[in-house]
Amino acid sequence: HNDEGEAVVFSVPSFACQRRITLDNHNTIITGALSLLAENAELSEEDGRGVAFRRAAAVLKALPEPVTCMTQLRGLPCLGEHSLRVIKDILENGESNEVESMKQSERYKALKVLTGVFGVGAKTADRWIREGIHTLHQLRDSGHALNRAQQAGVEHYDDLNQPVSMAEADAVGEIVEKAVVSVLPGAQITLTGGFRRGKPSGHDVDFLITHPEEGREEGLMSKVVSWLESQGFLLYHKTSRNSYLESANGPARPASNMDRFERCFSIFKLAKKYHELGKDAGPEETKPAGHKPWRAVRVDLVVSPISQFAFALLGWTGSKLFERELRRWAGQEKAMSLSSHALFDNKQKRYLTATSEEEIFGHLGLEFIPPSERNA
Ligand code: ATP
Ligand code: MN
Ligand code: MN
Repeated sequence: HNDEGEAVVFSVPSFACQRRITLDNHNTIITGALSLLAENAELSEEDGRGVAFRRAAAVLKALPEPVTCMTQLRGLPCLGEHSLRVIKDILENGESNEVESMKQSERYKALKVLTGVFGVGAKTADRWIREGIHTLHQLRDSGHALNRAQQAGVEHYDDLNQPVSMAEADAVGEIVEKAVVSVLPGAQITLTGGFRRGKPSGHDVDFLITHPEEGREEGLMSKVVSWLESQGFLLYHKTSRNSYLESANGPARPASNMDRFERCFSIFKLAKKYHELGKDAGPEETKPAGHKPWRAVRVDLVVSPISQFAFALLGWTGSKLFERELRRWAGQEKAMSLSSHALFDNKQKRYLTATSEEEIFGHLGLEFIPPSERNA
């Protein structure tokens, strides 16, 4: 409230990439509700609605204090009729009817369970639900043939649905570092994704690998993966090779956020630390059956040539909405095309190079936002 005792009217810039959004969120009930609606829309393959709710949530995340009445939201961007209705409901009743009943719905619960399986997306989950499959038991009994990723997803379901801690991310980082320097001395690894933004936990651990000499990184991924495999660190991996140069669409094709780096989606077998074994760590005879001294952790590895490193780092640090908004800003406000590989100026008809994230923000005419403030 201001000096006159009136509620503060907030002001927030239009694009999420113009805002500093830390993890210090003053409106968690509202943003949680909007994020759930976004998730539900995405799981139902209504991506447009999903983005609308994500944008609305990112406006609320940017506010310096809790919202207390609707008049404070006057003039804020990205708040559609539907989002405003949900916010009003929460301000008046403490919760949103729509969100609460969605959470209870059989369809939402089934979508959550099935897409909680690594390798299962919204399309597959929807097909299974229409066949009456709502649980992992029903999936098993259905006799559906699962692909390799989905088999690993079912096998390690509980582990992969338990958040990865910062300590576990560090432990994975040490292993990846060892692998990388063993197969190519001088190569460098950088933690990206949510952990680089300062999140205390995540659904996976993301790393970007490069070498200061252009070209030395070629073929690196398969060597790193072979090393990890030979040491028994991999429960699953799927490596895709770099398809950037062979693409006919040109490097900075803005329509897709899929980049074309050499990459590996994997599941690590991570040894538990003694204290994490907890009461299970007692004498052998008191250990519960099925106890194991390791856990499965999702890890994403990406290899980038040094010339594209800044773009790759920016593109893999997230958040997903922040990335989407950066690309939208580039296209709509600057007539540029941004990808995880490059930045193309459509007016000058040339690529703008960069060796740091700061330089890319500069090309885009944006104030630099550090990773810890990209939590849109
Ligand atoms: P979490 O803690 O849940 O892992 P996160 O922000 O790290 O959160 P990720 O899904 O790991 O989320 O994605 C990290 C970043 O990598 C995001 O910015 C995303 O845009 C980018 N990314 C993920 N998958 C791809 C892909 N297939 N192609 C290009 N970029 C991707
Ligand atoms: Mn991640
Ligand atoms: Mn990831």
